[in-house]
Amino acid sequence: MKNSLAALGVVWDYIYGTFKIRRILLLTVALFSWVFTIPVLVALPGWARIDLIYIYVSIAYITGFFMYGAFKHPLKTIFASVFLGWRYKSREFTLEEYRTYGATEIVNSMGIKKRVRVYVTPNHWIEGPYTNATNNRVYIPLKWMQRFPRLDIRGVLGHEIGHIKTKGKFVRDLAAAIGGIGGMSFLLGTYSVSIITVTIFEFALAFLVLTVLSWRNEVRADLEGAKVTGPEGLISVFEQLRAEDHRDDPSETHPSLSGRISRLSLLLPMY
Ligand SMILES: [Zn+2]
Repeated sequence: MKNSLAALGVVWDYIYGTFKIRRILLLTVALFSWVFTIPVLVALPGWARIDLIYIYVSIAYITGFFMYGAFKHPLKTIFASVFLGWRYKSREFTLEEYRTYGATEIVNSMGIKKRVRVYVTPNHWIEGPYTNATNNRVYIPLKWMQRFPRLDIRGVLGHEIGHIKTKGKFVRDLAAAIGGIGGMSFLLGTYSVSIITVTIFEFALAFLVLTVLSWRNEVRADLEGAKVTGPEGLISVFEQLRAEDHRDDPSETHPSLSGRISRLSLLLPMY
């Protein structure tokens, strides 16, 4: 009994962990919700439950996508980095570091007029570099600074500062997507009896759409960065991460490392 449960667990992990199958499952849920909804839509006059719909639509957006990522690695996520890591003080790059890692050069080459600050954080719950594009701050974990050579970090900085350069496009994509999903859910919710159906549909659609948008955003930042720093540094980092993880699945927010490497390889100079 215990063995077969374990075997089932392996199968489930495989299905769940294999990205494409997970997408298909979500898509199936989305389509299913339509199957249930359409007869209702046709058969019934719409009575509005507008206030209820507003409430659950907003909750669904805010929680769905981000909570999913948080549950996936329950410890090493936003929660751990905030609640267990709040004591760690980050320090800003020194003038010397701004110069030797090419941060200043990247910002200038991208034509970014605002001041971009780069910080090193010793918070070990944070798994990788990230950028707050609202205040133009880039954070690199201390363990990355210690581990990767200078030109690799320069490539990483190109990617992160690329997020600052392309944030307008991401916001525009996001607004269109949320408007689209919201509008569709609103119509469905207004003309259907089943709030549950609409919620399922909405969650599934939001997962899919936000994943696609997030991937586009990452690819854009890869390319913007590589235009300035050359693709070698980022490729090198991705190859090292891929070698140590022994797996190469895309995530909800990032495309697969292999996909990113092959896209960046197109920018390698031909000799
Ligand atoms: Zn990124």
